[in-house]
Amino acid sequence: MEKNYHVCTGCGLLCDDIEVESEKNIVNKVYTACRVGVAHMKEARRAEADFLVDNKPVDEDTATREAASILKNARNPLIFGLGTSTNETQKIAIELAKKINATLDDTSSFCLGPLVEALIQDKLKTCTLDDIRNKADVIIYWGTDPSDSHPRQLSKHTYFPRGSEKQRGWEEERTAIAIDVRKSHTAKICGNYFFQIPPKGDAEFIDALIAGLSGKLPKTSYNYPPKKLLELANILKGAKFGVIFVGRGLIYSLENLEPLFKLMKILNEKSNFHLIPMVGNCNTMGFNKNLFAETGYVNSIKFENGTVKHGPEYSVVESLKAKTVDAALVIGSDPLLILPGSIAKNMLEIPVISVDHCETLTSKHSKVYINTAISGVEAGGSAIRMDGVKVSFEPVIETNHPSEEVILKKIMEAL
Ligand code: SF4
Repeated sequence: MEKNYHVCTGCGLLCDDIEVESEKNIVNKVYTACRVGVAHMKEARRAEADFLVDNKPVDEDTATREAASILKNARNPLIFGLGTSTNETQKIAIELAKKINATLDDTSSFCLGPLVEALIQDKLKTCTLDDIRNKADVIIYWGTDPSDSHPRQLSKHTYFPRGSEKQRGWEEERTAIAIDVRKSHTAKICGNYFFQIPPKGDAEFIDALIAGLSGKLPKTSYNYPPKKLLELANILKGAKFGVIFVGRGLIYSLENLEPLFKLMKILNEKSNFHLIPMVGNCNTMGFNKNLFAETGYVNSIKFENGTVKHGPEYSVVESLKAKTVDAALVIGSDPLLILPGSIAKNMLEIPVISVDHCETLTSKHSKVYINTAISGVEAGGSAIRMDGVKVSFEPVIETNHPSEEVILKKIMEAL
């Protein structure tokens, strides 16, 4: 019987205080983690076969050789996913993409990618979760519901915990604010500081808030009560250490990031505000940072004989829509499930290699399926938390399943 502290790779928070009881390499009990983390730690369920080619069981060498052959014969292969892969795996995937002149993308191209890119380029002020726990007095959750998506965010990292400069607890020393189109679980915790806006109403709300911060009368076409907007502007002006957690709800509502840039500028003229993207997967931030370090872009790139091309046409959505890719290596993702059906169906026309720790809709329609160890549970490595902090982890249990890292190296060797 073992009992140790571990890192949970169930979401972008990478909580590092997880206690697990395991026996014979089976996780029996998980303490401290949220319901998402517990399910993730106990996820070591297996497909009927570990390696499949054309839905027939094969051995590891045959599967990796077949995968290499598909990639070698493709004119323009796509490598997609990697949001739950370790940094070490992501770096090998980038090398592989270079070697086979692949298009390379992850989910951030249709989620928080532009915001993460701006943060990596230091265009917006950010901070760490530890800074927030120690200092934050105003915390805004905008277009996001961490109580559901990142369940320990409020309790461990932001609103509720005591910090070095926040000893008296959340009610007295912190104000939590939710801005959203619906009264989410997080909005309920924020009580009177919930600001409900109509869908697509965020840009106007930001304009009105900027007016309020500048001492003007805040107006919106949807008649948001100016008194409430002024009340919010006053709270933000008085913040000593403020943070805005930006979710997909806000990003999807804005045509570009300009309103956010303007808001952050004025907030930092009046007070002290930081911004953190609510990254969902445990290492999407790592993918964006690793790719940026190598190419200067966070996603949607194509390698071509030593050069890098970048643009929306190299995103997973556009390249599948235009049918410019003729094979796909999908690592830890399920594009057939998450992409719109009209686009995802084009994947059915090309050979797909699915590398994943569980069966997915994509793996079921793949030419090659390789069942790998779960990063953070069965395979060690490192990942980048949503606030940009690197977190290293050891495997919680041992497994016979190869890690994604091992499989990608084998495919590279077999090319
Ligand atoms: Fe795991 Fe995220 Fe839950 Fe923390 S909040 S225990 S990282 S799933």
